[in-house]
Amino acid sequence: MNYNVDEKGYYGEFGGAFIPEMLYPNVENLRQQYLKIMAEPSFKKEFDQLLKDYVGRPSPLYFAKRLSEKYNTKVYLKREDLNHTGAHKVNNTIGQILMAKRLGKTRIIAETGAGQHGVATATVCALMGMECIVYMGEIDIARQAPNVARMKMLGAEVRPALSGSRTLKDATNEAIRDWINNPVDTHYIIGSAIGPHPYPDMVTRFQSIISEEIKWQLKEKEGKENPDYVVACIGGGSNAAGTFYHFLHEREVGIIAVEAAGKGVDSGESAATSVLGKMGIIHGCKTLLMQTVDGQITEPYSISAGLDYPGVGPMHAHLYKTGRAEFIAVTDDEAMQAGMVLSKLEGIIPAIESSHAFAILETRKFKPEDVVVFNLSGRGDKDLDTYINYFKL
Ligand SMILES: *Cc1c(COP(=O)(O)O)cnc(C)c1O
Repeated sequence: MNYNVDEKGYYGEFGGAFIPEMLYPNVENLRQQYLKIMAEPSFKKEFDQLLKDYVGRPSPLYFAKRLSEKYNTKVYLKREDLNHTGAHKVNNTIGQILMAKRLGKTRIIAETGAGQHGVATATVCALMGMECIVYMGEIDIARQAPNVARMKMLGAEVRPALSGSRTLKDATNEAIRDWINNPVDTHYIIGSAIGPHPYPDMVTRFQSIISEEIKWQLKEKEGKENPDYVVACIGGGSNAAGTFYHFLHEREVGIIAVEAAGKGVDSGESAATSVLGKMGIIHGCKTLLMQTVDGQITEPYSISAGLDYPGVGPMHAHLYKTGRAEFIAVTDDEAMQAGMVLSKLEGIIPAIESSHAFAILETRKFKPEDVVVFNLSGRGDKDLDTYINYFKL
């Protein structure tokens, strides 16, 4: 079984590029170039250098002693929360801005929901001195004022999406419209392992630095490269894709993907895409997504903004369908409690997205000798208000 993308841009039956005619030249150019560019020694050198000196990689692989004692198994944390800007997203935006430069582009567009991807994009545009326009739903702009301020400080223009529900999917539509109108000078930086081929594969490759490092770091600490399990939360699926990548074909490594159940999988307020989703097309790719019987995309819900996405990247849809990965859905309450446990036991306040992954320790039993690596995708600073309101701190 192959879990990587095939030459046609598919993971099993998922993936592909379902795009308007007008976007074809852009996406096709990217498809023809991306692997060649990523393989260039000068590209690799610049990417590695920036990951080291700007992002602060390698991120530590930390043995969580007290968490391990509590749950009677060996828990390691991959500390993506220590990256510059506080999460894994910057690995991808650094890669894509270098790609954009090699493609001769001078202008960057992006879409953002909660603003995390917008900030990561504005950051690398500042770094490279590129024009940056971030599309964001009008509702999200009101809800996410600190991130809007960050993007402005970083020199980006935040353009409100005023149509539809005025949230992420409308911002995505605006970004696509912009790209159609500006095909020559503009690169569209997509923020997760989603979108038309080659985006899911390109984003996965940029994020695969996570599992590449886990391998040698675990070798140093445990004398072996492969853990028994890798665990990551899934919104669109970029941190999970990076965490799983180098273990996909290592059969002894169990892969666990954690989705947001919101108020419960059957509550009608959830983002548990793999369980609730049906095959459909979202953001230019064929994948599992939450939709009504007549194919309208359902508004997802999660307490965590980063997991509040109605679809899942095509690689993950394939991992789900083939049974290669185990999918677990975690509720808001379970995630919030897990965030508190990690804070109290390890002195690490996680992003609520990442808290979803840790929550499985309450219900999914591991053996005492199991080595379980959790990707700690981001830090909790951005979520402090949510923690304050939830726990009445
Ligand atoms: C955006 C985000 C996620 C979800 O996005 P993926 O593409 O699924 O990784 C998870 N954790 C954090 C901290 C985020 O900022």
